[in-house]
Amino acid sequence: MIGNDNRLVQKASQPKPVDTLANSINLYMELAWLIGLVATTTFGWGVIEISRETKCPNCHQNFMFTRKRRRITGQGVHRGSEVTNYKSDWSCDNCGYKEKNVPEVVEREIPEE
Ligand SMILES: [Zn+2]
Repeated sequence: MIGNDNRLVQKASQPKPVDTLANSINLYMELAWLIGLVATTTFGWGVIEISRETKCPNCHQNFMFTRKRRRITGQGVHRGSEVTNYKSDWSCDNCGYKEKNVPEVVEREIPEE
């Protein structure tokens, strides 16, 4: 009698929690991988710069003030770095605030061959 009862309880409570835990771990792994991939392909090495500069000057929301267009206005080499000048159009996805023709300079080190 007692033996039968034990077996019944074990059977009923064992499989479910294990399955759920494994599934959620897989989901998190996939999600982390996906976020990493998207962040790398979208922002590359500029990710630190972007997180600092995406605060809207009008409504002060973070990650809403984004660059919509960028035009090259000049390019040159300076002290072993490739320097590119841009004029950019920015706008806020939250309140619609716009800034046009914002000057931007990007310096990239030229890799030695
Ligand atoms: Zn805004």
